[in-house]
Amino acid sequence: MRTVAVIGGGAGGMLAALTAAEDKQNRVVLFERQQRLGRKLLATGNGRCNLTNTGAAPENYHGETPDFALPALRAFPPEAALDFFRGLGLVTVEEFGGRVYPLSNSANSVVDVLRFALEARGVRLLTACPAREIRREGQGFSVRTEAGTLHADKLIVACGGAAGEKLGGGKDGYELLKALGHRRTALRPALVPLVTAPEYPRALKGVRADCALRLLRGEEVLAESAGELQFTETGLSGPAAFDLSRAAASGGDRLTISADFFRAFSEDEVLGLLRARRETFPELLSAELLTGMLHNRLGKMLVKYAGLPQNAPLSTLSDAALRALAAACKDFRLEVRGTGGFDAAQVTAGGVRCALFDPETLESRSVPGLFVCGELLDIDGDCGGYNLQWAWASGRLAGRLGR
Ligand SMILES: Cc1cc2nc3c(=O)[nH]c(=O)nc-3n(C[C@H](O)[C@H](O)[C@H](O)COP(=O)(O)OP(=O)(O)OC[C@H]3O[C@@H](n4cnc5c(N)ncnc54)[C@H](O)[C@@H]3O)c2cc1C
Repeated sequence: MRTVAVIGGGAGGMLAALTAAEDKQNRVVLFERQQRLGRKLLATGNGRCNLTNTGAAPENYHGETPDFALPALRAFPPEAALDFFRGLGLVTVEEFGGRVYPLSNSANSVVDVLRFALEARGVRLLTACPAREIRREGQGFSVRTEAGTLHADKLIVACGGAAGEKLGGGKDGYELLKALGHRRTALRPALVPLVTAPEYPRALKGVRADCALRLLRGEEVLAESAGELQFTETGLSGPAAFDLSRAAASGGDRLTISADFFRAFSEDEVLGLLRARRETFPELLSAELLTGMLHNRLGKMLVKYAGLPQNAPLSTLSDAALRALAAACKDFRLEVRGTGGFDAAQVTAGGVRCALFDPETLESRSVPGLFVCGELLDIDGDCGGYNLQWAWASGRLAGRLGR
């Protein structure tokens, strides 16, 4: 028998531990710093866990050398991940954009089946047990915790990244690996809300809308996205905003966001809708112009933003006024002031240098027997299930221990 220590009981670490435990030669010990396994997983997808994306492709991944992720992703693509979870009894549904969720709509289901499997395969689970130090010891490793020191023949570090601090994100993994000579690149929060001029977002706090977004420097388009947007106290959140956060973080100053709340309609078509509203309800007050088309609060805000009076009967509004509102609906602008920090981020851009590991096995090139997986590496994915897909795939590969 040989002892395999896995540090980190998140998505990647649980897959790595389960995979290592498939080999009866391995006695697997999983160390988790928090009270329970998969705490961050429970918060994913707004508590629903968007566990993979059936369209995951190389262009969905980023980092200094994103191609590093390809062998792991090819060996364990989304279909394989879904097969794996089906094998554990998880029932899933695919939604718009290839996003896959548990049928239960609860992230708990994902953590539960992983926990059942870990217990069934005899993995020793040490929760509330942070690894404080790892050292080379002969051909193996020692893992020091407050409860004592464990000798392991193989070591998998799966501590995750710095994002989502309140859910267990942190820098332990980078520090542990540094002690064995593995450096990291610069870390930045990614898939993070945009901080904007606060007046309109604050008034709309909590409102969600489907829209297309463009990130602009002057009139130059730096990045585009589409999907759900959510207004917050300080700016814009939701998948459509997250997808622009990478470009916003590196785009310099003088950036603005342009939101199109009628992405399936041309400006003339929106104007047509507004004229029809004026004709059908001439007595209605102007604040209600967009009622029935957009969220009520958003509609009223756009009327104000376009400079229309709030309380004029629609019959008194000119075509020019309706045209101004149609333009506002298609091109609502907000000044970008920055992005949120690691506490608000879903993922870490940057991480342990991929070049120090073999992409075919995820084993260290300088310390044989040391493996790494998940967000800790300098690989990050787009919003939509791509990050968990990377955690599963890399955890699976690391858990093979070079086999
Ligand atoms: C709010 C939020 C929502 C998200 N939603 C989605 C989504 O819907 N779909 C998607 O694909 N991705 C999503 N992500 C990203 C995704 O959760 C992560 O990329 C993924 O969990 C990374 O997996 P990991 O195993 O590398 O790290 P983690 O899942 O973070 O696991 C690392 C584990 O290691 C433990 N640990 C750290 N240090 C030590 C130590 N010294 N000793 C022992 N244990 C330690 C941590 O407590 C943690 O449990 C979301 C992230 C956040 C924050």
